[in-house]
Amino acid sequence: MKQTGVSEEEIFYLLSDAKKRDFSYQRVLSSMCTYPHEVAVRAHMQFIESNMGDFGLFRGTHDLEKQIILMLGDIYHCGSVEGYLTTGGTESNIQAVRAMRNFSRDRGNYDSSEVRPNIVVPASAHFSFDKIADILDMEVKKADLDHEMKVSVDSMQSLIDENTVGLVAIAGSTEFGQVDPIEEISQIALSHSLPLHIDAAFGGFVLPFISANHKFDFSLPGVTSMAVDPHKMGLSTIPSGVLLFRDFEYINHLRVHAPYLTVDTQYTLTGTRSGAAVAATYAVMKFLGVEGYSKVVERCMDLTGHLVERVKGLGIRPVIDPVMNVVALEVPHPTTLRTKLSSEYDWHVSITQDPKALRLVIMPHLDIGTIDMFINDLEKALRS
Ligand SMILES: *Cc1c(COP(=O)(O)O)cnc(C)c1O
Repeated sequence: MKQTGVSEEEIFYLLSDAKKRDFSYQRVLSSMCTYPHEVAVRAHMQFIESNMGDFGLFRGTHDLEKQIILMLGDIYHCGSVEGYLTTGGTESNIQAVRAMRNFSRDRGNYDSSEVRPNIVVPASAHFSFDKIADILDMEVKKADLDHEMKVSVDSMQSLIDENTVGLVAIAGSTEFGQVDPIEEISQIALSHSLPLHIDAAFGGFVLPFISANHKFDFSLPGVTSMAVDPHKMGLSTIPSGVLLFRDFEYINHLRVHAPYLTVDTQYTLTGTRSGAAVAATYAVMKFLGVEGYSKVVERCMDLTGHLVERVKGLGIRPVIDPVMNVVALEVPHPTTLRTKLSSEYDWHVSITQDPKALRLVIMPHLDIGTIDMFINDLEKALRS
């Protein structure tokens, strides 16, 4: 840092220059984030200084947070819901697994000085579970997927042992947008008396608003917690994630004594926490309602259908028929194609790991014109 500050004009010149080097979402088919809704942006700005780490000082914002949790409890069929706003899916997953581990430890289910507890997750789990293994020093056992990229219930069951403290299932996988057989996994969780966390970071703001009726939430009795990200399909500002628990019993295992704040306990991972994201999430959820989100999701699903129709015309098949607005395409040499699309055509896409395929997320910032332009370039890139 320099000794003397520079003028505001110069600062904003520097910022504009940096922003020009960011890619515009219009060319991005790899991101699960998008432009936040303008109502969310306005709300975010209005609450920019609000700190939910000391919510006794920000009682109004804290009320908004409680209302978000209740609205989500309503959508996900849970009258006794508890929870809070996180920085996103990663933090929600860390905290959910930490709660499972503490729940088991506090009940004396295992001797923490002797054994390393484990959880069983689908092989398609987000890489945040690799961070979890490291941070919580737990074993994360990965269950096989079937040909539709759903977790195999038999594989999950075979991995459960006496040191297993919980199960995870995915409602909308990051790579393929697939939903695990959560109804069956809920039964397994109940029969083994294990908590079950649902990672619906992406799917949470998609599945309730599509016509297909996937059972994935607290309506299934085995489900004990959920991760949902308003900063993805919820159109809120970053950082907006939500961690939900079926009831107070589970969240209580995250309690920490908080000296020198206006509140004496904290359940969160971070200390200082964005009240702006709380206001933004509240605002956009109230503004759009079920009808508004249904329109957003329906539009993305129509675009996804259009994209799949067109690529089939090019002889390209999706790895699975899209369940949500995430598509993985079976193309020759996906890694090379990805590089070519980026360097020669300025399209930003990603690839899946197993099987390797071209991964596209059809977010609200895309439209039919953009999809058609992309497919024309994809065709050229495949031919050259
Ligand atoms: C995006 C995503 C995450 C991680 O969320 P962040 O907000 O990036 O931390 C976790 N799980 C799933 C299924 C996701 O799609």
